[in-house]
Amino acid sequence: MAKRDYYETLGISKGASASDIKKAYRKLALKFHPDKNPDDASAEERFKEAAEAYEVLSDDTKRQQYDRFGHDGMRGGAGGFGGGGMNMDDIFSQFGDIFGGGFGGGGGGGRKRRMKGANLRIKVKLTLEEVAEGVSKKVKVFKQMQAKGVEYTDCATCHGTGQVRRVTNTILGQMQTAATCNVCHGTGQSITRKPSGTDEMGMVREEAVVSLDIPGGVEDGMQLSVRGEGNGAPMGGVAGDLIVMVEVLPHDTFQRNGKNLHHDHYITFVDAALGSTSEVPLLGGKAKIKIDAGTQSGKIVRLRGKGMPSVDSYGNGDLLINLNVWTPKKLSKEESKMLETLQDSPNFQPEPDHGERGFFDKVRDMFT
Ligand SMILES: [Zn+2]
Repeated sequence: MAKRDYYETLGISKGASASDIKKAYRKLALKFHPDKNPDDASAEERFKEAAEAYEVLSDDTKRQQYDRFGHDGMRGGAGGFGGGGMNMDDIFSQFGDIFGGGFGGGGGGGRKRRMKGANLRIKVKLTLEEVAEGVSKKVKVFKQMQAKGVEYTDCATCHGTGQVRRVTNTILGQMQTAATCNVCHGTGQSITRKPSGTDEMGMVREEAVVSLDIPGGVEDGMQLSVRGEGNGAPMGGVAGDLIVMVEVLPHDTFQRNGKNLHHDHYITFVDAALGSTSEVPLLGGKAKIKIDAGTQSGKIVRLRGKGMPSVDSYGNGDLLINLNVWTPKKLSKEESKMLETLQDSPNFQPEPDHGERGFFDKVRDMFT
């Protein structure tokens, strides 16, 4: 039987993008998945055919080879299939990449199911100080675990294979198909001994302490995944993951903008006019900055490297000190008089054109 063209199999054009290819395959894989089409040999064929087409077209090198030489190019040599197509194990191992886990493990018609524990989610609240340094935390998690003393053996119905063969009579003769063993639900295993207080799978819910190593620079809303610290799986299966959702608490003194920190700093009218030095807070420390004579409100002083680290790049961000000139809200009579004598001095008239950078320039600067 002549083999169908891979593009035709997936129902896409020759120029299809990588994401089109993935989408097309995903659709077909869901449609013809053996779990959805038990005992349907033609669906299984279509399922395998789509997987093989995807295997080739999703790989740039194989795709080029196929484009040049067609199916002949795929036999033997680099990544060839020898004409035999893919087996179900290959197909299901490919799934994790495409369907992001949720779909994995299945495979009713063809293979032993590996039990997988569910992922668990927790939230950790971190201070900005903890985020700056990175932090180790111990958290308590309630999770399903296999109880001590549980014993299990190969399922007697399917002899440990997780599937049973069924023979049906058709007009073409006897057809043999494989289906998931419904005694062990495809695990190939059955429990022979379980202590009291466990569920039917020999599982108990227990409190566990998990150590988290949170890298510096994480951001609010990020998720970290700790492999194997989710729910356990019965009978030698694989534990799920612990998904840690990061919440960064607001800070009294600093606002964070990616790698940079912002701080609103107030200086006196006198310091702004005469010039001075002023102490500003750092995350975990203090620094002195110079206030130039004639400083305007809204000036930004950049302290390089005093911002936050980043999880995915080197070097710290900056601390941006936003200077605000404090205008006195109350004045004594004497103070009022002194200021009134300055009222008519030409030096006190605003002259923003002389080299003053406007608000929007400063905002643009802050983000570069
Ligand atoms: Zn079984």
